[in-house]
Amino acid sequence: MPELPEVETIARGLDKRIAGDVIESVWIGDKPQVLKSPAAEIAAVLEHSHIIHVRRAGKHLVFDLSAPPRLASQGATRTWDSNKSVQTSDTINAQWIVHLGMTGQLLIGPPEAEMLKHTHAVLKLQSGRELRFVDFRRFGRLSVVRLDQEKPDGFGAAGLEPLETDLEHFIPLFNKRKTPIKSALLNQKLLSGVGNIYADESLFRAKVRPRRRASSLTRAEFQKLHKGLQQVLREAIKAGGSSVSDYVDAEGREGFFQLKHYVYGREGKPCRVCKTPIKRVIIAGRSSHYCPHCQK
Ligand SMILES: [Zn+2]
Repeated sequence: MPELPEVETIARGLDKRIAGDVIESVWIGDKPQVLKSPAAEIAAVLEHSHIIHVRRAGKHLVFDLSAPPRLASQGATRTWDSNKSVQTSDTINAQWIVHLGMTGQLLIGPPEAEMLKHTHAVLKLQSGRELRFVDFRRFGRLSVVRLDQEKPDGFGAAGLEPLETDLEHFIPLFNKRKTPIKSALLNQKLLSGVGNIYADESLFRAKVRPRRRASSLTRAEFQKLHKGLQQVLREAIKAGGSSVSDYVDAEGREGFFQLKHYVYGREGKPCRVCKTPIKRVIIAGRSSHYCPHCQK
């Protein structure tokens, strides 16, 4: 499942390739489970919208859009010219929100590219390319948000952004919790975008075992965890940059970087620091990896 650095990488790649383009038309498939907004609403918001930019919020991709004013409903008198059907101002007034789930992918390619099975949405772009949402497990979700008085800032992830949260806001998220620190790190209502890999890796850097109660961590341990988490996320984003173009390519190849993991996925292998075999335990249904010597 893509976590924060992967979604950040994908967002940057998409932004580089399609910001400034215009969505001419939208096709949406017949699998309702991938739609969080009604299909007609998604199509109404996306069609003729100008893509201002693509960015990440938590584990979501946010397409900031300048949707054309709906002239009829506003009683305006201008008529549409099919060549000039998009307003030129870059006021963001709508958003397309994509959650990739387990296997969701956004692919950019020419219209003649083979239509993959499990394609749930196709956006025809003014540049002649298509942006397709493909997801064979169907845990991905598509929705749209209109920015209005109720939601002037549009979509917001539930938890805090780990890279923008300072220590004084980080500690109170966790220090009253009786749950294992690992589960608390995965709780998207606290921090947004941290998944299994980066939770395990940041706990290794903090020298804290994943099963420890969150409330038992000392201030010094929280400090190391905060720093370790930000470091590992930044390193992963940096490493992810090079594989972006492959990932969003029409071929559908995956391009996730291979992070140099210390513990994640290394059960039984020697710790890179002390050579003790890495242990794997299940915490709240998720695999957790740690070094029994380095982590207390
Ligand atoms: Zn070790």
